Amino acid sequence: MFGTGLLKGLGVTLKHLRDTYLDDRERVPSRYEGSIDLGDGERIIRQPIDQEGLLTIQYPEEKRLLPERFRYIPMLIWDTEKGEDRCTACGICAKVCPPQCIWIVRDSDENGKPITRPAEFYIDAAVCMSCSFCAEFCPFDAIKMNHDFELAVYDRYPQLVYDKEELTVPIEYYAALWPTQYAAEQELIRQKEEEERAKAEAKAKAEAEKKAQAAERPKAQRSPEELEALKKKAAERAAARGKSASDEGKGQDEDPEAKKARLEELKRKAAERARQRQQESGE
Ligand code: SF4
Ligand code: SF4
Repeated sequence: MFGTGLLKGLGVTLKHLRDTYLDDRERVPSRYEGSIDLGDGERIIRQPIDQEGLLTIQYPEEKRLLPERFRYIPMLIWDTEKGEDRCTACGICAKVCPPQCIWIVRDSDENGKPITRPAEFYIDAAVCMSCSFCAEFCPFDAIKMNHDFELAVYDRYPQLVYDKEELTVPIEYYAALWPTQYAAEQELIRQKEEEERAKAEAKAKAEAEKKAQAAERPKAQRSPEELEALKKKAAERAAARGKSASDEGKGQDEDPEAKKARLEELKRKAAERARQRQQESGE
């Protein structure tokens, strides 16, 4: 029917108006309760997830508190404890980036040998689609998604091509932005370190046991008296072997005649078989 869509739209607007009014009434005396005052009239407003209606805020003085999983442009993590970039310039993020907007130049030492550190790192923020693939695939937790969305500039180049310096943030910044994820990662790191420590301790223990066993071995060596007795026994066995060999030798002296007779017999039998075969083939 003509005008139905218009009435439906007005209904939605009226619903939002009512919800907003009721929500405001519920928050009397101030809907700013629980917001973070940044001074100079600026504040970050916490909007509860169950809030109904449309809450208009006075941007840019007022901003919404973004959820932890909000993501915009990636940032590179600087490990303040170690005093180095977490990035090893492995290039995985650049490979998995769907619009291919990451460029990395690996650093090298004084001999020109490549080292695991980026000399340059660029992200074209105009092309980045905030998919977070780079952060998910990075094996070193070196690249994470930033919440900073106020990046408007007049010219795309070079302002929207961020270099390493612009992209790098201290790890504390990341911990404040992503507290739950950071805590989970730290827990994983702690578990891994504990496992490695336990492995190293077990290895050291096994080596110590091995060394102790090796140190105990000389005690198990035989006494001079035992060695003397063993030598005596060995000499007796050798003498007995020598005697039996000489006895066998005697037996062998008589063998040539018998051996010759056996060979003659074998030759005769072979000749007879050959003759028989010849006769059979002649028939
Ligand atoms: S940010 Fe991560 S994935 Fe990308 S090059 Fe650095 S270490 Fe590799
Ligand atoms: S968020 Fe996605 S598009 Fe942006 S740099 Fe990372 S992988 Fe590329």
